[in-house]
Order: sequence, then C-alpha cells, then structure tokens
Amino acid sequence: MAENMKKCYQCKNKKPDAEFSSKGSRIVHNRSQLICNSCIEHIYRKNWDVPCQVCEQKPTVGDLKLCGPCTWGEAATAGGNW
Ligand SMILES: [Zn+2]
Ligand SMILES: [Zn+2]
Repeated sequence: MAENMKKCYQCKNKKPDAEFSSKGSRIVHNRSQLICNSCIEHIYRKNWDVPCQVCEQKPTVGDLKLCGPCTWGEAATAGGNW
C-alpha cells in the first residue's frame, strides 16, 4: 500500500505541493508529476555559471544547461524571466 502514497517524484520523501504540468512537463516528462515546492525551486533556479548549450546565453535553467527560450521555446523567458 505504500506504493500508492503520493510523494514528490524528485526527492521521494516530501509530500508534493504541486502537480507539474505545462512548464514543467517540458523539463521532466510529458506527463504531470507530483513535486514539492523546494524541488520546483531547485529545478527552476537560475544558473548563471553555465551557458546555454545551444545559444550560450545565461542564465540557464537549473541543471539543464539550456536557457529559458531553448527550454520552453518562448523568447519571453530570455534573461532569466521565468
Ligand atoms: Zn521534493
Ligand atoms: Zn539557449
């Protein structure tokens, strides 16, 4: 029965605070995932140390090595605007 308990798919121990959908689905999988707030913050943190693999812009999204526009395909997310 423990298998049916809903947990954050990232840290596997906290209770999920949100369901990953629209934005998150691009990053993780093409389906919604349950995730806690601290993992969301970690995934979407602005990484100013690593340039985008595609266009070399900064910041990039978390550990993805892709900038906002290359991650989501939305120019509005350039410059860490997410
Ligand atoms: Zn978590
Ligand atoms: Zn890019």
